[in-house]
Amino acid sequence: MSRVLISGAGIAGLALANSLKGLGWHITLIEQSPSLRVGGQAIDIRGVALDVAKRLGVLEELERRRLKTRGVTMIDREGNVMHESDEHTLTGGYFADQDIEVIRDELVEVLFETFAPDPAQVWFSDSIVDLELDESGVQVTTQAGKSERFDLVFGADGINSPVRRSLFGADQTNLRYLNRCVANVTVPNTIGLDLWQYAGWETEPRWIVYPSRENQDLRAFVLYDRAEDDPPPASRAEQMALIASMAATLPWKVPEILGDPARYEQFYFGDLAWVDLPRWSQGRVALVGDAAHCPTPMTGQGTSLAIVGAFVLGQELRRHAEDYAAAFARYEERMRPFVAANLKILDAHKDDGARGAIAYAKNAISLDA
Ligand SMILES: Cc1cc2nc3c(=O)[nH]c(=O)nc-3n(C[C@H](O)[C@H](O)[C@H](O)COP(=O)(O)OP(=O)(O)OC[C@H]3O[C@@H](n4cnc5c(N)ncnc54)[C@H](O)[C@@H]3O)c2cc1C
Repeated sequence: MSRVLISGAGIAGLALANSLKGLGWHITLIEQSPSLRVGGQAIDIRGVALDVAKRLGVLEELERRRLKTRGVTMIDREGNVMHESDEHTLTGGYFADQDIEVIRDELVEVLFETFAPDPAQVWFSDSIVDLELDESGVQVTTQAGKSERFDLVFGADGINSPVRRSLFGADQTNLRYLNRCVANVTVPNTIGLDLWQYAGWETEPRWIVYPSRENQDLRAFVLYDRAEDDPPPASRAEQMALIASMAATLPWKVPEILGDPARYEQFYFGDLAWVDLPRWSQGRVALVGDAAHCPTPMTGQGTSLAIVGAFVLGQELRRHAEDYAAAFARYEERMRPFVAANLKILDAHKDDGARGAIAYAKNAISLDA
């Protein structure tokens, strides 16, 4: 039986754990947060990723938890209604189509519940600090002082992946910043918003507000451009204060919703970057999800790519259970064109062709190849 360690209990890590279920392997997850990391915006599960969700046995539950947003109202700089649509979503889809829009927290919860690990299988509040690779295994040392040997290790630890850093060095030339930051805030729905989005795309920062969890909460998404030589504040308190001060300048009810950081129930802040690497594995260690290939939230496809990548990796490990090198090679061979097709969505945004690009890219891989 193989002993495997997955770094990161996020979307890619939990999808991979589910994909390896049933192989009889001993799977451990290591997650730096004290519990599952919640927070984040509504994310789309589209195309082939829906098929993966079905094969992993989570589709029905995701359907149940999907956002039932009915439409969107665009607001101008002065707070006037510019237009309303109950047809097109802001992220390039249609309100009525088969894609599933779900809050990131819900996807993480559903994947975790379906994997249903024994508590000892998840090392919360811990992180890998050292990996020593040799022919027969990987010796892992963690921040909490564990030192254990695994047959395979997977880096599913997001855009700033420490596993990627230990494999390919601290040089982050493979991380290209977009000079654009995003914040995602959860606050109580005190304005009575009912299954409807409001958004302002003319202001700086841009913003979207919509209800989640049966209209109990509001999620606010704020996006701003930054100067190349002006990195965002590092501390959470400063990031929150920055978002609150930006919100005070915005129209509609945004100042009321976001003006006071003390009301923020969840807060996520990201300095957007894309990750592009010449290879996704070394020896017995492989990367999956944003750690390997982050197409940025501007494509709306990061989560679908993470789910599909985790599934394809699991599928190849099943097919080549005795030959991890062949499995990793095949995983990369199948996923590369899919990732490339999805990165093209960024160019399509420039000429307003994003809907067509997404419609093509979301299906640009076969799960039965
Ligand atoms: C809390 C949160 C909120 C997010 N909100 C948004 C959003 O609003 N918009 C958006 O576009 N994208 C958001 N993302 C990113 C989005 O989830 C991913 O781009 C995408 O779903 C791919 O998933 P992933 O599993 O590769 O990465 P992630 O979902 O980022 O998961 C990575 C996991 O690894 C864990 N981790 C990180 N470092 C370590 C470490 N050193 N040791 C162990 N574990 C580690 C993280 O805590 C997390 O659980 C968010 C991510 C997180 C963690």
